Amino acid sequence: MQFELIKNFVKDKGLPLYRIGQIREAVFVKGISSWQKATALPAALREDLEKNIKILSFTVEVLQASKKDPVFKALLKLEDGRKIETVLMKPGKTWSVCVSSQVGCPLGCAFCATGKMGFARNLTAEEISDQVLFWYQFLLEQKLGERISNVVFMGMGEPLLNYEEVAMAIKDLSNPDYLGIGQRHISVSTSGVADKFFNLAQDLPQVNLALSLHNADDSERSKLMPINKKFNLETIKEKLEEYLARTGREVFIEYTVIEGENNLPMHVRKLGKWINSIKDNYLLHVNLIACNPAVGKAVATEDSSVKKFASALQGMNINVSIRRSMGADISAACGQLASKNRRKK
Ligand code: SF4
Repeated sequence: MQFELIKNFVKDKGLPLYRIGQIREAVFVKGISSWQKATALPAALREDLEKNIKILSFTVEVLQASKKDPVFKALLKLEDGRKIETVLMKPGKTWSVCVSSQVGCPLGCAFCATGKMGFARNLTAEEISDQVLFWYQFLLEQKLGERISNVVFMGMGEPLLNYEEVAMAIKDLSNPDYLGIGQRHISVSTSGVADKFFNLAQDLPQVNLALSLHNADDSERSKLMPINKKFNLETIKEKLEEYLARTGREVFIEYTVIEGENNLPMHVRKLGKWINSIKDNYLLHVNLIACNPAVGKAVATEDSSVKKFASALQGMNINVSIRRSMGADISAACGQLASKNRRKK
């Protein structure tokens, strides 16, 4: 729900302006999931709100909880019947939400279930920020916590292909009148839509940028991630350098280690060489993730294999961390739940 809606509703109905604050508090502080729970408001106003304003722009179709990790995943049905998914997880002490930015994705990365669904449409800013509001309500209702600390754009879709709505959603989410999540706690993960890096640097310099690289060989990367034919490694490098010069912010390079496909000695060499050729590369940090085997022909990557890859990169003076993949039992990689539940046409 967009905050503007509340303001307009109160003004249009000729209500006293203090109602704006009361409604805001009910939705964004108390996290009510239905207007009837806004007990500070008179019953007639609750009825009126019920008829006129939806708190969320979707309904929940499936909600799954991981048995292994603090991870929840929801399949959401939008007003036009299309479906997206969103994930709530607790990788450390705080809760993070992974949001989708498009229904499907036009980029067709070989390893990605969303890519196999094709592209339907961009999400609106409201549909994006509502995913976070939904998990906030869930945390409060389940008494699991009172705060969402981080938001990552790593769900379905390529966020930089839906730049305007994503930027608006980030501004809404970080608005203290909304959920007030600091922009430094919001990360945009891109497959390499490099012509938008500078927009992000200009408009939202506090937001974290993460680049899903997965291979530093142009021809192999183009097979894995066809967007590489449009923005190849040389172009990404140029645009990253502009971004780093402008923001001075750390950029995360995401690299899913796929056994036998991108973890051979030549892949480490090429990745190290590419990173070391980038100006201000001390600001780059590689996150290695073991491949989640649920998709396609990829097989699970052993931890030892990821550690070997990491130490080879460290040997080339590159900052590197190993990230644990969470929620594999509920297919918490992007697009997997929506593609399983997609109706065949
Ligand atoms: S990995 Fe991201 S960019 Fe690639 S197809 Fe999947 S959703 Fe799209």
